[in-house]
This record gives sequence, C-alpha cells and structure tokens, in this order.
Amino acid sequence: MGLFQISQVRLRLVDETKIMKDILPRQVRRLIEELAKLPGIGPKSASRLVFYLLSRPKTRSDELGEAILNLKNNLKKCQRCFNIAEKEFCPICEDLNRNSNLIMIVESALDVIALEKSREYRGVYHILGGVIKPIEGIGPDELQIRELLERVRENRELEEVILATNPNLEGEATAMYLAKKISDLAKKSGRKILVTRIARGLPVGADLEYADEVTLSRALEGRREFIHTPDS
Ligand SMILES: [Zn+2]
Repeated sequence: MGLFQISQVRLRLVDETKIMKDILPRQVRRLIEELAKLPGIGPKSASRLVFYLLSRPKTRSDELGEAILNLKNNLKKCQRCFNIAEKEFCPICEDLNRNSNLIMIVESALDVIALEKSREYRGVYHILGGVIKPIEGIGPDELQIRELLERVRENRELEEVILATNPNLEGEATAMYLAKKISDLAKKSGRKILVTRIARGLPVGADLEYADEVTLSRALEGRREFIHTPDS
C-alpha cells in the first residue's frame, strides 16, 4: 500500500470520530461511549448496538434500560457460597439433592454457570471473588477465604474439596495456598479431607468461563488428588 493510500485511511478514521461528535445527538454518543467501556465491546460494536436500538421500537430500549437499572436492586450474595442470589441462600445451596460434602472452589460466579452447563457436578460451590494477586494488593484477606475455611471447619462431614481456580499462574498459586490451608486444618482436627485439582485438560492460561462443556466435564472427571491429608 502506498503512502498516499495510508494517509487516506488515517484521514477516514479521524473523520469518523469528528463526524460522530459533530452530528450525533449527545444521548446517542453517550450510550456509545458507555457501551464501549464494557469488556469485549469496542467503539465499532458499541455504535452498531446503539444504531440497532435506534432502529427498533422505543419499548425495546426501554426494556433494556429498565433491566440495567434494576440489575443491582434486591441482589444479594449467598451467605454460604457467595454466589449471586435473590435470597439469603442461592438455589444451589438450597437444593437438598446436592451433595454439600463436596465443595468446588471457583474464582467467580461466572465459573459456576460454566460448570453447571456441563451437568456433571452435583456438589456445591464456594466463590472466592478472585485470586491472590500480590502485585495488585489482593491478598487472602481480600477474598472469601476466611469464610471458606470456616465452612470447612464447621462441616464435619466434608469429604472433598475441588480446587477449580483458572489454570494460570495466579490460579495455581491460589490453589496451592488453599490446599495447604485446608490440609493443615484437616490435620489439626484429625480429619481426612480429600483435596483435588481439576485436570490439566484445560488449556494453560485459559479461563474456565470460556471452556466448552465437554472440556469442563473431562477436567472434572480427571481431577486428581492435590495434597493428601493422612488418616487420623
Ligand atoms: Zn450458595
């Protein structure tokens, strides 16, 4: 491509931003800017979404606006597992058919949705709210780790804890930290708690939420013992 063509392309890009500022009404520009701040949506997709909404009847955008306005109203965190909930406990914790002696530890509520889609798992969850990231100042106290250890301490029937943090550096380090804490706790109280880690079938560095159902089922099936706590 010649120099002339490149400068023409640049000119077109600059013009587009300028045109947007010059001719778009403020509320249209504002929604484009707000949507563009969301993960995975750039200015192009944001513009496309806004123009789509503009082409639909007003009720469509009213409904969307109302859903966004009410998103955080009456929303709670489950008192037991920290999943999003409408009541004190989430539907998974309330379900008597689920095995509460099997706890899967995940980073976020989004991971729960991914794992539930695989329909393999019949235990319960514990959501950490992230992983340990010393560089960003996120230590164990910033996560729901104290509450997890309290759950482990209180549930004398607990059989297994599955560590399902993401298979990246921080996820692995957090899993190691938790495995040690849980096995120390088990040792101290003279109990045997199996601590397992989901299988390495997941691509390294990947996020659980993006893994497909089959990969997740296999990762779950192939879980291995992480740290063995000796019999009392
Ligand atoms: Zn719950």
